[in-house]
Amino acid sequence: MKNSFLENLNQGVLGLKPYEPGLPLEHTQKKLGLEKMIKLASNENPLGPSPKALAVLQEKSNSLSSELNRYPDGNAYDLKEAISKKYKVNMNQITIGNGSNDLIEFVSRCFLGTGKKAIYSQHGFAIYPLAIKATGALPIKSKAKNWGHDLELMLDLVDDQTKLIFIASPNNPTGTAKTLLEIKDFLNNLPDDILVFLDQAYYEYIEGSEFDIPFSLIDDHPNLVISRSFSKAHGLAALRLGFCISNSELSDYLNRVRQPFNANSLALELGKIALLDKNHIDKSVRINSVGMEKAKKTFINLNYSFIESWGNFISFDAKQDSDVAFQYFLEKGVILRSLKVYEMPQHLRVSIGTEEEMDFFLQVLEDYEKELSQK
Ligand code: PMP
Repeated sequence: MKNSFLENLNQGVLGLKPYEPGLPLEHTQKKLGLEKMIKLASNENPLGPSPKALAVLQEKSNSLSSELNRYPDGNAYDLKEAISKKYKVNMNQITIGNGSNDLIEFVSRCFLGTGKKAIYSQHGFAIYPLAIKATGALPIKSKAKNWGHDLELMLDLVDDQTKLIFIASPNNPTGTAKTLLEIKDFLNNLPDDILVFLDQAYYEYIEGSEFDIPFSLIDDHPNLVISRSFSKAHGLAALRLGFCISNSELSDYLNRVRQPFNANSLALELGKIALLDKNHIDKSVRINSVGMEKAKKTFINLNYSFIESWGNFISFDAKQDSDVAFQYFLEKGVILRSLKVYEMPQHLRVSIGTEEEMDFFLQVLEDYEKELSQK
């Protein structure tokens, strides 16, 4: 039987390829029959969630579970209040997302559609072109420079149809970041009727104050939206929670395309605790720096070139086809990410894990190097 109704699919949807997530740990381990396997594939927090959030989960588990029949607070009042206090922004500037991915969808839905264009960078986060295409708009890929966004080229690519520009700092999967000066310069040279979505999912990991882009920049540039995630340093990837700060008039519209209960009760409850757990965030950042330094040292010793990263992951040239290299690590018990789909045919991305996980990965890397050099 022919599914003739599929002929009516929106043109933009027809061209979509599904996003490929990292392989799931337990299932993959079982399938390969390996005794030990670690997952360093999805830029998660290896320390887990904030212990303060976990304590609340346990303490309130009775009251939380007895309220599972109730819808979450659709206005996310308490979480917005916590965000507003922590970052000195008005509550009406905040939009809550089911993960920060949700926010990428909101801006795309609000500003794009057939006949419009949005610009993103080569080696940029894979969700941008998906979200753009789904609206029927045209994604314009700007060639990267030294693996990062070429902001000058992005400006040159702007035309009358351009409505939205995605910038990630740090960017996934390259880890590159932009300084406040670079972002200011970009905004000053961009027509102010074009929206800029600055994705800061990895914000907490950035080291260096010159990369700190304050929410107050939105006061000078109302066409700027800045997003953050609870999936990384806060360790709550499973709960799906993110937020963005924007001009209050814009956040009113973003909230109109949002599903009324897009963030679940557990995420709202634990998110506001994790947000304020400075100890856990600091510890996560510290462990990340230590793991990152160790990885970089080994890359240098073994002569692997890598891309300097401001996130909780690092991408390196595996000296051969990345899918082949990915398979080697997989069979040795390390799930990494092949970056072929990101037009990086020899690169692998490794998320920074605990000390023990990094030692395991780096040992496999040494074995890999030995095998390669014997070929
Ligand atoms: N932006 C970037 C750059 C990312 O790498 C990710 C997740 N990998 C996201 C946004 C989305 O994260 P989440 O929806 O979990 O907040």
